[in-house]
Amino acid sequence: MSNNTQDLLDVYKANVMPTYSPSLVLASGSGVTVRDVDNRVYYDFTSGIGVHNVGHSNPRVVEAIKEQCQSLTHCSNLFVNTPMTLLAKKLVELSGLGGKVFFCNSGAEANEAAIKLARKWGSQNGGRYEIVTMRQGFHGRTLATLAATGQSWCQEGYDPLPVGFAYADFNDIESVKAAVTDKTVAIMLEAVQGEGGVTAATPEFMAAVRALCDEKNLLMICDEVQSGMGRTGNWFAWQGYDVKPDMFTLAKAIADGIPMGALVSNGKLADVFTPSSHASTFGGNPVASAAALAVIDVIEEEGLLENVAKISTLFREALQALVDKYDKLLEVRGKGLMVGLVVDGDAKEVVEALQGQSILALTAGPNVVRFLPPLTLGEDDLEDAVDMISDALDCIYGE
Ligand SMILES: *Cc1c(COP(=O)(O)O)cnc(C)c1O
Repeated sequence: MSNNTQDLLDVYKANVMPTYSPSLVLASGSGVTVRDVDNRVYYDFTSGIGVHNVGHSNPRVVEAIKEQCQSLTHCSNLFVNTPMTLLAKKLVELSGLGGKVFFCNSGAEANEAAIKLARKWGSQNGGRYEIVTMRQGFHGRTLATLAATGQSWCQEGYDPLPVGFAYADFNDIESVKAAVTDKTVAIMLEAVQGEGGVTAATPEFMAAVRALCDEKNLLMICDEVQSGMGRTGNWFAWQGYDVKPDMFTLAKAIADGIPMGALVSNGKLADVFTPSSHASTFGGNPVASAAALAVIDVIEEEGLLENVAKISTLFREALQALVDKYDKLLEVRGKGLMVGLVVDGDAKEVVEALQGQSILALTAGPNVVRFLPPLTLGEDDLEDAVDMISDALDCIYGE
């Protein structure tokens, strides 16, 4: 077998279940770029789907992983490991919620933990279990998180799904109120929706959800799996609003590519899980935790939250100029470096044209192109990338 794209794709297709349909084989990554096995370089404006917030193979993260691998790679939660303990303290501090952390390995698993914690609390608070989630939201692919996701395109063929979920419309508080019953225990949402189309909650909606939760004694759960870890210019997207959730979940970017998930609670929920009531063998793994501590250091010391504010403004202005130029482009939306470009047509066609110009991007639903560049993106690279985006659009929308 040779190591070129076509040969590797053939072997991949013969042996890997077809849940994705990739067309590139990547060999390495560095900062904001990746290189494929045929030695072609791309700007990675997917960040591995919102994972590489501090860039590919960030040297400080690599160093932290190497060092940790040489001392302790795993020890289970029957014993305490130092990086996990320090990481928990750091996340509690960054959240300002005064609670505690549960560690796991993915976004879906973090959301499962949130759902279970809500149910456990609900069982002690009026026997309530139902969770209201948003249509267009996305919470993962396990059976419970799929039920929480409430979209037919990903639920089809998996009946029966777990019960206990009701759906409302995002940014429509009346529809949320209508979905609340005497069995409702929580409202779960993304402050900035990712897969559902890169849509930010309005401040009024977030405030009204919080007020409704206070009024009805419900828990507010924010899914920060995509929007967290600095992506929107705050550590967590809910911090860009004048509200505090009762708990929120993290995964994707938390350890810059080492699998990790986390659930962060407020004080009220800190001790609802008790010994043996929930668990995860790898949760808080020392290597992942060491990577996450390095990620947080990089974001803090390199001023990446400020960089998001600066670069996202420039990026949005550049995209808006393209929206003004092409009738087929409708709107720039999202928050920080969670950027959506709404097209009048097929977003996949645009993503393919971008790949042709050596820039990797994502879709978010049928008509939204999604850009999630590393938060380390600088002005020069942004300028190059915008030229490439402009060329790609010219290929498909130009005269
Ligand atoms: C990606 C994502 C998930 C699922 O995370 P996995 O690690 O793939 O299980 C959940 N919620 C949101 C908002 C996501 O973007």
